[in-house]
Amino acid sequence: MSVFEEAKNIPVLAETDVLVVGGGPAGLSAALASAREGVDTILMERFGFLGGNLTQAMVESLVWYRHEGTVEAGGIGRELEEFAAAYGGTYPDPESTGRLLDADMFKCAADELIVQSGVRPLFHCYAVGAIIVDGLIRGVITESKSGRQAVLAKTVIDATGDADIAAFSGAPFTKEPAGELMCVTTGFGVSGVDTVSFREHIADQPGKIGDWASLTMKGEEELFSAYFTDVFEKARQDGVIPEDSPLEGFWHAITDAGEVTGLNVVRVFDVDSTNVWDLTRAEIEGRRQALAAIEALRRYQPGFENAKLRTFGSSVGTRESRKIVGRYNLTGYDVKNQAQFEDTIGIFPEFLDAYGIVIIPTTGRYFQVPYGVMVPKEVDNLLVAGRCVAGDQVSHSATRQMMCCAVTGQGAGAAAAVAVKNSTTTGTVDLAMVQRRLEKQGVRIK
Ligand SMILES: Cc1cc2nc3c(=O)[nH]c(=O)nc-3n(C[C@H](O)[C@H](O)[C@H](O)COP(=O)(O)OP(=O)(O)OC[C@H]3O[C@@H](n4cnc5c(N)ncnc54)[C@H](O)[C@@H]3O)c2cc1C
Repeated sequence: MSVFEEAKNIPVLAETDVLVVGGGPAGLSAALASAREGVDTILMERFGFLGGNLTQAMVESLVWYRHEGTVEAGGIGRELEEFAAAYGGTYPDPESTGRLLDADMFKCAADELIVQSGVRPLFHCYAVGAIIVDGLIRGVITESKSGRQAVLAKTVIDATGDADIAAFSGAPFTKEPAGELMCVTTGFGVSGVDTVSFREHIADQPGKIGDWASLTMKGEEELFSAYFTDVFEKARQDGVIPEDSPLEGFWHAITDAGEVTGLNVVRVFDVDSTNVWDLTRAEIEGRRQALAAIEALRRYQPGFENAKLRTFGSSVGTRESRKIVGRYNLTGYDVKNQAQFEDTIGIFPEFLDAYGIVIIPTTGRYFQVPYGVMVPKEVDNLLVAGRCVAGDQVSHSATRQMMCCAVTGQGAGAAAAVAVKNSTTTGTVDLAMVQRRLEKQGVRIK
């Protein structure tokens, strides 16, 4: 069923050179990269803070993969981590040589970075449509407390995670059926943990990657993992949680105040995050699972006897939804075989984590990330960065990682700015110049 919406003129809320929609790791990096090239940049976000999944779903484990031999792009991804550390918003990461980010402190760190950079932030503003003229995107339609308006731009970067703008534009995309998408998760944190007892238990019975990953690289299954090894299995066996409860997963930081944060144990399946009914069910089911998880932890996890709910992430976290069909569609073969591309805009270590496949980059192997994965078909002056870039499921298990989202974000931001400055489109932009600008910005592209 459908209804006719009457055509009407709407006010223009703002005009800019580069509009970035979505303030997650990809959008944040895109906006910073664009502003650093000296073009006017707006970063639009539907919520009142930046960070995307990192803050909304408390995904604090930005670099849990990092080991001595890991080779990375550097660039803005690394800067986000270092800026958060200087801001006092990180913890030691027990799984890696990197740091865990404090989700709430990262909101403040990201505010500061954006304000310092000259990017114009626009919060509480939802992009709900695209303005397309002769195959070129000219801006987006927005909804907010200010009403229905438009933001006009010379170039748009879709960093919504769900490829919303590409979909509104009519660009082709793929999306698995809901039942085949990765599950969504409600992140939460607890207080009242006896951290001494918890730490002792971890030291005594450490989790390992092989406890949860079905396919790992030889030797990597023994690496430490912040994984609750048997809590939920015991709770299922004793009927504390239902036999078919999907609870399973990880903890992130342990604070001196007796908190354990970023608990990633809730798993809600059969959710298409572009469907509001599915999202509604996921939010309610996710919170219900979180309370059941706390009950199981209180009974079976040493140190958690007096744990209680401290905080929820502000939205269920999505791992996978739409992916654009790009000028180039990355493959599992590419990410596992050190692929090289003429149009590389950065590198990412051979780090895969999804669908039970886990490869930790202990070897120094890495692949180049091609510009083509961000270029949608049929619409020009639109780039797509982050977890919705073009590729198959296995390549997604690398490109969905927040640090890889920062690589595509920075690449998109620099390319959009170069296109604006040279009065070309993002489809025809001088890629050699984009690569030079990225190297100047501190990105390793080869
Ligand atoms: C529970 C969980 C655990 C994970 N664990 C890890 C991990 O350990 N390590 C890792 O690297 N990755 C992990 N991931 C994956 C990672 O978090 C995501 O792939 C990554 O955050 C994607 O970044 P992004 O910038 O593309 O999108 P997102 O982080 O989803 O950000 C998109 C942003 O766009 C905004 N937005 C969306 N639509 C609109 C719109 N129409 N208008 C305006 N704004 C909009 C959103 O509010 C959001 O801020 C995990 C994900 C989940 C859910």
